[in-house]
Amino acid sequence: MKRTIIEVILALALLGAGAFGWTNWKQNQSATNQVTELKAASEEATKAAAEKAASVKAAEEEMTALRAEMAPLESQAQQLAAVKAAMANGATLADLEAAYKSQKKLSAERQVGLGAVRMLTKGAEDPAAMEAFRKALEMSELGDRKNTICAAQIGLAAAGEKVTIMADCLPKGAKPGAAKGEKAEPGAHEEKSDDKHDHGKSDSHGKPDDKKAPEKHAVHWSYDGDMGPERWGKEFPTCAKGKSQSPLDIRGPFVKTRTVVTTDYKEGPLKMLNNGHTIQVNVPAGSKLRIDGVAYDLLQFHFHRPSEEKIDGKPMAMVVHFVHKNAEGKLAVLGVLLKEGNENPGIKTLWANMPMEEGPEVAPEGVSFNPANLLPREFDFYSYEGSLTTPPCTEGVRFFILKSTVNVAKEQVAAFPFKRNARPTQELNGREITTN
Ligand SMILES: [Zn+2]
Repeated sequence: MKRTIIEVILALALLGAGAFGWTNWKQNQSATNQVTELKAASEEATKAAAEKAASVKAAEEEMTALRAEMAPLESQAQQLAAVKAAMANGATLADLEAAYKSQKKLSAERQVGLGAVRMLTKGAEDPAAMEAFRKALEMSELGDRKNTICAAQIGLAAAGEKVTIMADCLPKGAKPGAAKGEKAEPGAHEEKSDDKHDHGKSDSHGKPDDKKAPEKHAVHWSYDGDMGPERWGKEFPTCAKGKSQSPLDIRGPFVKTRTVVTTDYKEGPLKMLNNGHTIQVNVPAGSKLRIDGVAYDLLQFHFHRPSEEKIDGKPMAMVVHFVHKNAEGKLAVLGVLLKEGNENPGIKTLWANMPMEEGPEVAPEGVSFNPANLLPREFDFYSYEGSLTTPPCTEGVRFFILKSTVNVAKEQVAAFPFKRNARPTQELNGREITTN
């Protein structure tokens, strides 16, 4: 019995020990699992961190590479090559053409832009690029289009066209080719404001030693001497090669036309300038000429002495050219001949405010003017297709020369600051002169 009791106790003790051991092992096991899990998690985190670091590093490397690629191109040639490469797939040209497709007529500036992009895309001798530059050149005749003229001339030259580039167009330091000894003037491309303070001393042509003083600004042409009408064609080929040039010596036979021309000129604030070639009045928007109902805006009018047009070989004392442009860019000039006689009250107002020296536009305070004051009552005309009578002698200009003249006093003619600013008459070359 005693032995049995001992055995039971022993058995119980053993069981207890076993149970303890089990529990202990169990606990150990779960702790190990936890550690393993934690370890795994931490490994994962480490791995993720490493990946992140790697990708950051990769990004940094990429940036460095990009930066290296974006390093400034050293030479202009490299820059140009880069621009060409960027244009090579034609996407830019296609975009530009699509954007301009809806437009009936592109401005000279847009023609230049299109030409430049074409040239960069298709190569220097792309005929369409040259065409665009030519169009731009033809359109750039009025007002201050020098930059556009330069761009188009340089574009054509780059395309291999034999075109003389105006001295003013050449970049700093470049030597003008045909423009005999005239220095490319620094900053000539910039706006005219630079020129403005030089107008006072517009006779300072001969000061070649003073680098800072720009030469008398950009005289590309004149009415006599080295730059006279016979030489205009050198820089402005149309002046020499054109077959429909103005002015004309108007003589019969005439072809009858039913074209109807009316004016609707309005009074507005007077703005005028002496541009070195003539006295020009810039007309605010609103004054119109109508040719068979088609409206042409009056842009400006200016004077020539003597009249550029002759009738049966005879010039008049002066002529006023009213320059108009329609929505499609077509130009029309209405010419009113001034005959020596009584004082002209309209001209009296103009001359009283006229700048005697070349310079920017002036707008005398409180003075208004109606261009209609310079028109005769009768509107019978001679008409022909002609050109601008000043460089670049662009053709496609419709001329209407009124048969009725208006008076101008001898003293008024004498007070006009240009003694002679008339281009000689040009060949008719088979053109018709019509009359209504
Ligand atoms: Zn004119």
